[in-house]
Amino acid sequence: MVLETKVTIIKQDVRVPYIMHEFSIAQSMLNLVEDQVGEKRVLFSATVTIGPLAGISIESLRFCFTEIAKQMGFGSPRLIINDVPARALCLDCSRQYAMKDMFEICPKCHSLHRSILSGEEFTLDSVELEEPEGEPKPTEK
Ligand SMILES: [Zn+2]
Repeated sequence: MVLETKVTIIKQDVRVPYIMHEFSIAQSMLNLVEDQVGEKRVLFSATVTIGPLAGISIESLRFCFTEIAKQMGFGSPRLIINDVPARALCLDCSRQYAMKDMFEICPKCHSLHRSILSGEEFTLDSVELEEPEGEPKPTEK
């Protein structure tokens, strides 16, 4: 499906507690959209950035988001996910390294003493909404 050019973009940082479940995360995201928009509108898509260390199961989030969006009257939006690499700085040997998960140790000195540089991000970057009383939609073939 092709999105119309008339869309509203919302930029919002959503920091959620690490322990929060995907259901609650999806609910928070959609509540936020509802609060900002002030009325029910068809949501075409939501774009989020999720780091591998954010503790969020993308599969679960996608499922919850789709289901809750439907129930809240937002239609069937797509959830677009930007992933960011996770990196750490070893505090013992100063080496920077990529992390797949929390358990990745320094490849050089095998230390777990480190500072996380990136990978814990979770932000709702933008949403694309139907314009209220906008121009008629182009007919699909
Ligand atoms: Zn090291």
